Amino acid sequence: APQIVFAGRSNVGKSSVINRLLGRKNFARVGSAPGKTSQINYFRIDRQAYLVDLPGYGYAKVSKTEKERWGQLMESYFQDEGELITLGVLIVDARHKPTADDCVMCDWFRQSGCPMIVVANKVDKLKKSEVEANLQLIRDTLQMAEGEPMVAFSAEKGEGKETLLRELSLHCG
Ligand code: GDP
Repeated sequence: APQIVFAGRSNVGKSSVINRLLGRKNFARVGSAPGKTSQINYFRIDRQAYLVDLPGYGYAKVSKTEKERWGQLMESYFQDEGELITLGVLIVDARHKPTADDCVMCDWFRQSGCPMIVVANKVDKLKKSEVEANLQLIRDTLQMAEGEPMVAFSAEKGEGKETLLRELSLHCG
Protein backbone atom coordinates (compact mmCIF):
# COMPACT_ATOMS: atom_id res chain seq x y z
CA ALA A 1 0.00 0.00 0.00
CA PRO A 2 1.17 3.59 -0.60
CA GLN A 3 3.13 5.22 2.17
CA ILE A 4 3.14 8.81 3.40
CA VAL A 5 6.43 9.22 5.19
CA PHE A 6 7.18 11.59 8.09
CA ALA A 7 10.72 12.59 8.93
CA GLY A 8 12.33 15.20 11.14
CA ARG A 9 15.05 15.72 13.65
CA SER A 10 14.54 14.59 17.24
CA ASN A 11 12.38 16.90 19.29
CA VAL A 12 11.04 18.85 16.31
CA GLY A 13 7.58 17.65 17.32
CA LYS A 14 7.10 14.86 14.79
CA SER A 15 5.15 12.64 17.20
CA SER A 16 3.01 15.59 18.22
CA VAL A 17 2.25 16.44 14.58
CA ILE A 18 1.29 12.83 13.86
CA ASN A 19 -0.91 12.65 16.95
CA ARG A 20 -2.58 15.91 15.98
CA LEU A 21 -3.33 14.51 12.52
CA LEU A 22 -4.47 11.06 13.60
CA GLY A 23 -6.46 12.07 16.65
CA ARG A 24 -6.44 9.70 19.58
CA LYS A 25 -6.87 6.37 17.91
CA ASN A 26 -3.27 5.73 16.99
CA PHE A 27 -0.57 7.19 19.14
CA ALA A 28 2.98 8.09 18.33
CA ARG A 29 5.12 8.25 21.45
CA VAL A 30 5.80 11.83 22.51
CA GLY A 31 9.00 12.91 24.18
CA SER A 32 10.50 9.48 24.73
CA ALA A 33 14.28 8.98 24.78
CA PRO A 34 15.40 11.26 21.94
CA GLY A 35 17.52 9.48 19.36
CA LYS A 36 16.67 6.02 20.60
CA THR A 37 13.66 5.65 18.38
CA SER A 38 15.54 3.30 16.11
CA GLN A 39 12.38 1.79 14.78
CA ILE A 40 10.03 2.65 11.95
CA ASN A 41 6.39 2.91 12.99
CA TYR A 42 3.54 2.25 10.57
CA PHE A 43 0.05 3.62 11.09
CA ARG A 44 -2.74 2.47 8.81
CA ILE A 45 -4.57 5.69 7.93
CA ASP A 46 -7.24 4.26 5.68
CA ARG A 47 -7.92 1.27 3.46
CA GLN A 48 -5.36 2.58 1.01
CA ALA A 49 -2.40 4.02 2.77
CA TYR A 50 0.09 3.94 5.61
CA LEU A 51 1.55 6.82 7.52
CA VAL A 52 5.17 5.94 8.19
CA ASP A 53 7.00 7.49 11.12
CA LEU A 54 10.76 7.41 10.54
CA PRO A 55 13.03 7.64 13.59
CA GLY A 56 14.19 11.16 14.43
CA TYR A 57 17.73 12.22 13.62
CA GLY A 58 20.27 14.83 14.56
CA TYR A 59 20.13 14.43 18.31
CA ALA A 60 23.49 15.69 19.58
CA LYS A 61 24.01 13.16 22.35
CA VAL A 62 23.53 10.08 20.23
CA SER A 63 26.50 7.68 19.98
CA LYS A 64 28.32 7.00 16.75
CA THR A 65 26.99 3.44 16.72
CA GLU A 66 23.44 4.70 17.08
CA LYS A 67 23.96 7.13 14.18
CA GLU A 68 25.29 4.36 11.98
CA ARG A 69 22.32 2.21 12.84
CA TRP A 70 20.05 5.05 11.83
CA GLY A 71 21.86 5.42 8.52
CA GLN A 72 21.59 1.71 7.78
CA LEU A 73 17.93 1.67 8.70
CA MET A 74 17.24 4.60 6.34
CA GLU A 75 19.25 3.02 3.57
CA SER A 76 17.39 -0.26 3.71
CA TYR A 77 14.06 1.49 4.13
CA PHE A 78 14.53 3.64 1.04
CA GLN A 79 15.91 0.69 -0.90
CA ASP A 80 13.11 -1.73 0.01
CA GLU A 81 10.13 0.60 0.20
CA GLY A 82 11.21 3.80 -1.56
CA GLU A 83 9.00 3.04 -4.53
CA LEU A 84 5.92 2.88 -2.33
CA ILE A 85 6.39 6.40 -1.00
CA THR A 86 3.71 8.67 -2.40
CA LEU A 87 4.62 11.70 -0.30
CA GLY A 88 7.54 12.71 1.87
CA VAL A 89 6.66 14.97 4.79
CA LEU A 90 9.68 16.77 6.21
CA ILE A 91 9.04 18.41 9.56
CA VAL A 92 11.29 21.30 10.49
CA ASP A 93 11.26 23.84 13.31
CA ALA A 94 9.59 27.06 12.17
CA ARG A 95 11.95 29.06 14.39
CA HIS A 96 15.25 27.90 12.92
CA LYS A 97 17.22 27.51 9.75
CA PRO A 98 17.02 23.84 8.73
CA THR A 99 20.05 21.79 9.81
CA ALA A 100 22.49 19.94 7.56
CA ASP A 101 20.69 16.73 8.57
CA ASP A 102 17.40 18.22 7.40
CA CYS A 103 18.99 18.91 4.02
CA VAL A 104 20.25 15.32 3.80
CA MET A 105 16.79 13.97 4.59
CA CYS A 106 15.35 16.31 1.98
CA ASP A 107 17.78 14.94 -0.62
CA TRP A 108 16.82 11.41 0.33
CA PHE A 109 13.19 12.16 -0.44
CA ARG A 110 14.09 13.87 -3.70
CA GLN A 111 16.23 10.93 -4.79
CA SER A 112 13.38 8.54 -4.15
CA GLY A 113 11.40 10.60 -6.65
CA CYS A 114 8.39 11.26 -4.41
CA PRO A 115 6.75 14.66 -4.06
CA MET A 116 7.59 16.42 -0.84
CA ILE A 117 5.89 18.76 1.57
CA VAL A 118 7.60 20.71 4.34
CA VAL A 119 5.83 21.25 7.65
CA ALA A 120 7.18 24.19 9.66
CA ASN A 121 6.14 23.16 13.18
CA LYS A 122 5.99 25.18 16.42
CA VAL A 123 4.84 28.26 14.54
CA ASP A 124 2.98 29.24 17.72
CA LYS A 125 6.37 30.13 19.17
CA LEU A 126 6.91 32.83 16.55
CA LYS A 127 5.58 36.35 16.45
CA LYS A 128 3.17 36.89 13.56
CA SER A 129 5.62 39.36 12.05
CA GLU A 130 8.41 36.77 11.98
CA VAL A 131 6.57 33.97 10.21
CA GLU A 132 7.02 34.98 6.61
CA ALA A 133 10.77 35.60 6.79
CA ASN A 134 11.31 32.31 8.61
CA LEU A 135 9.34 30.35 6.05
CA GLN A 136 11.41 31.94 3.30
CA LEU A 137 14.65 31.03 5.06
CA ILE A 138 13.46 27.43 5.28
CA ARG A 139 12.52 27.41 1.59
CA ASP A 140 15.90 28.82 0.59
CA THR A 141 17.93 26.51 2.81
CA LEU A 142 16.16 23.39 1.57
CA GLN A 143 16.33 24.71 -2.00
CA MET A 144 12.64 24.09 -2.49
CA ALA A 145 11.09 24.55 -5.90
CA GLU A 146 8.34 27.16 -6.43
CA GLY A 147 5.55 24.61 -6.46
CA GLU A 148 6.70 22.58 -3.47
CA PRO A 149 4.22 23.15 -0.66
CA MET A 150 5.03 24.25 2.86
CA VAL A 151 2.58 24.39 5.74
CA ALA A 152 2.98 26.59 8.81
CA PHE A 153 1.93 24.26 11.60
CA SER A 154 1.40 24.11 15.31
CA ALA A 155 0.94 20.65 16.79
CA GLU A 156 0.17 22.40 20.05
CA LYS A 157 -2.58 24.72 18.79
CA GLY A 158 -3.78 22.78 15.76
CA GLU A 159 -2.90 25.48 13.24
CA GLY A 160 -2.36 24.12 9.74
CA LYS A 161 -4.08 20.81 10.44
CA GLU A 162 -6.80 21.11 7.80
CA THR A 163 -4.32 22.30 5.17
CA LEU A 164 -1.98 19.41 5.85
CA LEU A 165 -4.77 16.81 5.93
CA ARG A 166 -5.95 18.08 2.55
CA GLU A 167 -2.43 17.71 1.11
CA LEU A 168 -2.12 14.19 2.55
CA SER A 169 -5.47 13.09 1.16
CA LEU A 170 -4.22 13.96 -2.34
CA HIS A 171 -1.52 11.31 -1.95
CA CYS A 172 -3.44 8.45 -0.35
CA GLY A 173 -4.73 6.57 -3.36
P1 GDP B 1 9.66 14.31 18.33
O1 GDP B 1 10.89 13.90 19.06
O2 GDP B 1 9.99 15.00 17.04
O3 GDP B 1 8.66 13.22 18.13
O4 GDP B 1 8.99 15.48 19.20
P2 GDP B 1 7.77 15.43 20.24
O5 GDP B 1 6.47 15.28 19.52
O6 GDP B 1 8.09 14.44 21.29
O7 GDP B 1 7.83 16.93 20.81
C1 GDP B 1 9.00 17.47 21.40
C2 GDP B 1 8.61 18.61 22.31
O8 GDP B 1 8.13 19.73 21.55
C3 GDP B 1 7.50 18.26 23.30
O9 GDP B 1 7.79 18.88 24.52
C4 GDP B 1 6.25 18.85 22.66
O10 GDP B 1 5.27 19.18 23.61
C5 GDP B 1 6.81 20.09 21.99
N1 GDP B 1 6.03 20.51 20.79
C6 GDP B 1 5.70 19.73 19.73
N2 GDP B 1 5.02 20.43 18.81
C7 GDP B 1 4.88 21.69 19.29
C8 GDP B 1 4.25 22.89 18.79
O11 GDP B 1 3.68 22.96 17.70
N3 GDP B 1 4.35 24.01 19.58
C9 GDP B 1 4.99 24.00 20.77
N4 GDP B 1 5.03 25.15 21.46
N5 GDP B 1 5.58 22.89 21.28
C10 GDP B 1 5.53 21.75 20.55
